[in-house]
Amino acid sequence: MDLLIFWDSGAPAGLELPVMRMVSGVLEIPTRVCANPLILNGYVGSRHQTDASVLLDTIDMFKQRQGIRHLILVVTGNDIFSTGTTSLFGLARPSAGAAVVSTARLTNEFYGRDGDEDDLIDRTVKESAHEIGHLFGLDHCMTPECIMHNPLTLDDLERKKRWFCPECKGLLETANLVHSLS
Ligand SMILES: [Zn+2]
Ligand SMILES: [Zn+2]
Repeated sequence: MDLLIFWDSGAPAGLELPVMRMVSGVLEIPTRVCANPLILNGYVGSRHQTDASVLLDTIDMFKQRQGIRHLILVVTGNDIFSTGTTSLFGLARPSAGAAVVSTARLTNEFYGRDGDEDDLIDRTVKESAHEIGHLFGLDHCMTPECIMHNPLTLDDLERKKRWFCPECKGLLETANLVHSLS
C-alpha cells in the first residue's frame, strides 16, 4: 500500500523531501510527496483553527472522484481541531485511508523556543507515521517510545522514537501484507 503526501502551501517549505524519506523509512512503504492540490475548507474563524474532520472529508471525496486507492496524508500548517478537542497534532480516518497532520504545534516557536528545523522534521515524521499507523488499523500503544503511543503534549512526542515497538511492527507488517494482496 503506497502513501501519497500532499504538502500544503502553509506547511514549512523545504521540509517535504526529508519528511517523505523518513516516513517511508519508518513505515517501510513506498511514499511520494507533491504540492497539495486540494482546497482546504473547514476554517473556523472564531477559533482560528481548521476542522480536521472537514479536511478528511475533502481527502475522502477526492480519492473517490479520482479513483485513488493509495493512502493520502495532508500536511498543513493550519492549527487543527475536531469536535470535542481543543487542538490536534493529527487525525486519521482508516475507513477512508485518509489522514491529516498539522505542523502548527510541532514548531519550537509555538512554545516560545528558538526554531530548529531538525526538531520540526523529527516531530512531523513521528506524527505522520503515527497517523498512517492508524490507517493500517493500529491502535494506541502503551510503550512511551513507540510511534503509536498517543502524544498529548510536545514532551510526549519528544519521548517517542522514530520506531514501532516489536508488537506494533508485527501488526503493521501483517496489515501491509493484507493490503498488498487485496
Ligand atoms: Zn493516535
Ligand atoms: Zn507499540
